[in-house]
Amino acid sequence: MQHLLASVFPILVFSFLVSPFSLAADVLWRYGTDRYGRESLIESVELPPEEEAVSFLSRHLGYENPRIKVLAETTILAATPTGGEVPVFGFHKLGMEPRFALEPKRFRTLIRLIQSKGWYLMSDTDFAQGDFTSVPSGKKPLVMGSDDASSGTAIYLTRGPSRTGRVRRIFGTPRWDPNCMVAILERFAPRENNRINFTFYISFDAIPFRQLDGAKNPGFPYPNIPLVREKITYLDAHFRLGIHSLSHQKAADMGQEAFSQDVLAAWNLMNHYAGGRAETVQTMAYPYGIVDGVPDGEELASWFEELERPLAGGFDFDDQWASPNHQPRGPYAISRLGVDNSNWERARKILEGKVPTAVAQRTILWTTTRKRLPPSRKSLGIHRNDDLWVLVKED
Ligand SMILES: [Zn+2]
Repeated sequence: MQHLLASVFPILVFSFLVSPFSLAADVLWRYGTDRYGRESLIESVELPPEEEAVSFLSRHLGYENPRIKVLAETTILAATPTGGEVPVFGFHKLGMEPRFALEPKRFRTLIRLIQSKGWYLMSDTDFAQGDFTSVPSGKKPLVMGSDDASSGTAIYLTRGPSRTGRVRRIFGTPRWDPNCMVAILERFAPRENNRINFTFYISFDAIPFRQLDGAKNPGFPYPNIPLVREKITYLDAHFRLGIHSLSHQKAADMGQEAFSQDVLAAWNLMNHYAGGRAETVQTMAYPYGIVDGVPDGEELASWFEELERPLAGGFDFDDQWASPNHQPRGPYAISRLGVDNSNWERARKILEGKVPTAVAQRTILWTTTRKRLPPSRKSLGIHRNDDLWVLVKED
């Protein structure tokens, strides 16, 4: 008898707890406006007792493998955009030459279009990881970066020649040249959590950023230059950094072993310059892009398996559009469109919205213990076009 009670008792308790008749179920409400235009909870779905709210909601909404980001007040569900591609722009330097340089005023024109034409400048890392949770619904994902740490990128005003002259400082703080990428981006580009999602992919085949501030030129691979330390630390805090290899040679010419060692050496040097660890480094751009003789997909990913930290992805320079799900070549071979004076009109037309591109869609879930309207979208930090749902959890 005792044995029988012991085995039946837990089943009785369990069935009591999950019974739909003994406890009201949690309910998901869609937030919107009623027919009088008043904000209200307009559509409800009861959460089956054995279901977890986020996965149930993503199925209910028809999201396939959504990315989920849990924040303090909300949970974000984001689908990978379908039916369009993403422009990933690769710049090199600012200047007047037709190839690889872009006039500062043209760079300014492009950057000003980001906010005015409904783009969202997402990080190259989020894009490589297929994470669109930061991109508000209705916004068009856009990725940008610059290779080589060349002239016109992160340049301070100097007394005398830019390369060898002393940097001008006010109470110790240097001033950016207003016609360099950093200054133009800081003036016109949107920020995400106080950071501008523009990646500087640094190589060490020349003085990074081409300024010495009076220091002696140490020669390849250019370690221990105080001004380079100052710039890399600044960019790591305010922008994003990526690897562009140490020696800037073609991956195909070097082969797997030498190339991955070269990437690792560049990463170590960036850490050295960041004073320990360059926090934002998670991606790389291939010197000259991925050319014949370099694999893609899984095989290319395996090139970087022995790095101390995994890379989230790698960027090509093939002048192609990128697909949001990295088909067909995978996240280590993401296509980029080059932008320079010879072709910049194409970039302008894209940013002016004259070419259809991918559009983001995400849903925000806010949880409460009684049925009520959510706080304002502004206080939740979400966009007016984001789909908003309220989970009313029974105590
Ligand atoms: Zn390069």
